[in-house]
Amino acid sequence: MAEDCIFCKIRDGEIPADILRRDENCFVIRDIAPVAPAHLLVIPAEHIEYLADARSGFHETVGAMFSAAREVALEEGIAESGYRLVVNQRDDAGQMVPHLHLHVIGGRRLKGMG
Ligand code: 5GP
Ligand code: ZN
Repeated sequence: MAEDCIFCKIRDGEIPADILRRDENCFVIRDIAPVAPAHLLVIPAEHIEYLADARSGFHETVGAMFSAAREVALEEGIAESGYRLVVNQRDDAGQMVPHLHLHVIGGRRLKGMG
């Protein structure tokens, strides 16, 4: 793990968080500062900082992340009403936590991108 990584610490139970789902590839938590009634974060277990850091096993990880997003959207009751998946990368996207994660955002009508 990377030292001082918030998401690695949550994975390891060093920072408390309600982990909604977990498998060997990824886990899901609620965002601490939700921008919509449903705002989940799907986080790979492995400390991957950026998509550019893809290595072997990456496709399995990304597949597991999308499967987890689909499952948690069903559980949150937003699968039918709709939701947005967002992956911020580096400064121009406003990425705050340099550990890859997929935002699952829904529960209200979302405005346009950008
Ligand atoms: P980013 O801007 O990097 O794409 O998104 C990082 C997200 O992590 C932000 O939406 C922020 O609210 C969330 N976050 C940051 N620290 C914590 C934390 O300690 N716990 C939880 N549950 N979410 C966090
Ligand atoms: Zn990490």
